[in-house]
Amino acid sequence: MTKKEMIDALNLEDFSPIYHEADRIRKEVKGDDVFVRSIIEFSNYCKRECKYCGLNCHNQHVKRYRMPLDEIVETAAQAIAAGYRTIVLQSGEDPYFNNDNAKRLGEVVSAIRALPTNFDPEPDGSQPILDITMSTGELPYEALAHLRECGATRYLLRHETSDPDLYAFLHPCGTLAERIQCLRNIKKLGYATGSGFMVGLPGQSLESIANDVILLETLECDMAGIGPFISSPDTPLQGYPNGSTELTKRAVALCRIHRPELNLPVTTALGVLNPEERKDAFSCGANVIMKKVTPTKYKEAYQIYPSKIEETRIIEDRQALDALIRSLGRRPI
Ligand code: SAH
Repeated sequence: MTKKEMIDALNLEDFSPIYHEADRIRKEVKGDDVFVRSIIEFSNYCKRECKYCGLNCHNQHVKRYRMPLDEIVETAAQAIAAGYRTIVLQSGEDPYFNNDNAKRLGEVVSAIRALPTNFDPEPDGSQPILDITMSTGELPYEALAHLRECGATRYLLRHETSDPDLYAFLHPCGTLAERIQCLRNIKKLGYATGSGFMVGLPGQSLESIANDVILLETLECDMAGIGPFISSPDTPLQGYPNGSTELTKRAVALCRIHRPELNLPVTTALGVLNPEERKDAFSCGANVIMKKVTPTKYKEAYQIYPSKIEETRIIEDRQALDALIRSLGRRPI
């Protein structure tokens, strides 16, 4: 699809033929598997000033926490026991963990890498390995390289918006060029690389969303997280309207058509706005879902955007998610 075709599609009265095409391509290229990833939000300390994010360093209302190493590793062990093959480690940009080219973060990754796993063999007989996915913000090349050596296999770093002016407005402490350079470093180091963007940011145009889809291709991404902007209290964007879930799903569908091989999650933010949308989101071409395994006591404090706090029950949550996925005729992995 050309950029013009994408913009026209985003504008359509009836998008259903494009959803069907996205779902058809998903089935053909990715099959019926749905990858279920666990996510541990291990620190909400952040040195950055992202205007949309509830954890930005100026927000004095946040109770800051860091999970101790043992507790992070124990949580990961429980997630593995519950059947997860991927641990996503997410945090703010926390100088404590990022010290000395991410030395402490590297200890977390190494300790998780050393955990025993007992996954069923793949159909071809090979033994799956645990994926450790970093979602810890921009880091210098040496730190990224160190984490890779410690055993991290994937990295999520959304470009957030491909519009350099909008990016600059939203991020008083960084540039789009720096973010993109970091993504290139991640790719170069052999991580499975995930970018992505928000939909419905103040001042964002449909052309800019089409450019976001195109940028994923330029960056040679393996995965892309796309979610609606959700206005957070106590941030400079408090009171701005939330992004549209419909437009978000349209963007996911365009990504599936434009880049059939991508792993595309049903983003958590989509479910926050409308839990029913989660089921629907799979039908627009998504093939991944993430589930928080963060201990309940930290959840209140990890509010990137406002969302309902649910008690974490790692095993039961996973079973419920598997059942939901099966009820949709898909296979949880
Ligand atoms: N510090 C890490 C993790 C950020 S949280 C990093 O910089 O990569 C993961 C994603 O949540 C962000 O990349 C952003 O796209 C999204 N996010 C943050 N605030 C949001 C909000 N108010 N509404 C919707 N999504 C938001």
